[in-house]
Amino acid sequence: MKRMIDKNLRTVNYLRISVTDMCNLRCIYCRPKEGLSLFERKEILTFEEICSIVRYSVNLGIHKFRLTGGEPLARKGIESLVRCMAGVSGVEDLAMTTNGILLKKYAAELKNAGLSRINISLDTLNAEKYSKITRGGSLEAVFSGIEEVKKVGFKNLKINVVIMAGVNDDEIEEFAQLTIDKNIEVRFIELMATRNKKKLKGASFFPVDMVVERIKRQWETEPLLAKSGNGPAKRFRIIGSKGSLGFINAVSNPFCSNCNRLRLTSDGKLRSCLLEGGEVDIKPIIREQGASIANRSIEFSDHQKEELCEAFYKVINMKPKAHEGSSDVVMSQVGG
Ligand code: SAM
Repeated sequence: MKRMIDKNLRTVNYLRISVTDMCNLRCIYCRPKEGLSLFERKEILTFEEICSIVRYSVNLGIHKFRLTGGEPLARKGIESLVRCMAGVSGVEDLAMTTNGILLKKYAAELKNAGLSRINISLDTLNAEKYSKITRGGSLEAVFSGIEEVKKVGFKNLKINVVIMAGVNDDEIEEFAQLTIDKNIEVRFIELMATRNKKKLKGASFFPVDMVVERIKRQWETEPLLAKSGNGPAKRFRIIGSKGSLGFINAVSNPFCSNCNRLRLTSDGKLRSCLLEGGEVDIKPIIREQGASIANRSIEFSDHQKEELCEAFYKVINMKPKAHEGSSDVVMSQVGG
């Protein structure tokens, strides 16, 4: 089986795909109130194009995939992309990161289409605060989405909490408490300074180590081994609890030495890192004359395959040894 290894000897086997730069929320740390100018429709990769890239990248040793955005469920027909990707031989894990607002509607279809796992971004358990952080989002919609996800049989549900001083750091214990009688993983994530965050007020950094300290002050905990699908999170659980806790200090202690991922933006840029390192536009390769669409997937010519291979290797070797924890990216374009 083929493996891609970068110049820092990291095996790259994971691709996070942003399927749209649109989002149905405007989180204070992610998107400005007035929204962003969106990519033109013709610039966005079609599902056939995405699925063909997936099919190709499996040959290079990529077996884990995650759909993100923008908001992946805001892209019409997303379940058909899931179905197409789940049917690709060699796709071992197919997950999605969503804000959960539309999950009540889509959870069953996503399950039927072959999605393996779902992470839900949820920064507060307070309805009023949720509406403020997301600029108008409904916490009730997220809760009913979570119920639906469980009802249709998704396992290993993760809740991602971006922890922010003065915004939701008063809810650390409440989030931890959720894991006592629910089989979910709550993961605390450090706020990264990105292009919009630099301009926006009202969200400031809170170190994940302090979250750990607060939880350990209140409960006895036991460490958990990293398990497949848990990526960079350090994990433990409150003794006797059904669920678990994860901690991602992407800023204070980046996990770059173990980074196994690349990213694909919805307009076809293959990126080496969330924050830095550079990217290669693979859309011109995909759209090169001669590609034929058969059975809803594109048959790449030998020339295209060579160019794609070159692009993937170029990008893995752009991966920085370690990132700085901040950058000028627009998170909803790159896909958090
Ligand atoms: N709309 C989907 C969602 O909400 O999960 C997927 C895209 S969103 C950009 C992916 C993740 O990035 C979310 O968990 C969000 O909280 C996180 N995120 C966005 N901006 C961030 C920032 N500045 N620092 C840390 N996480 C951020």
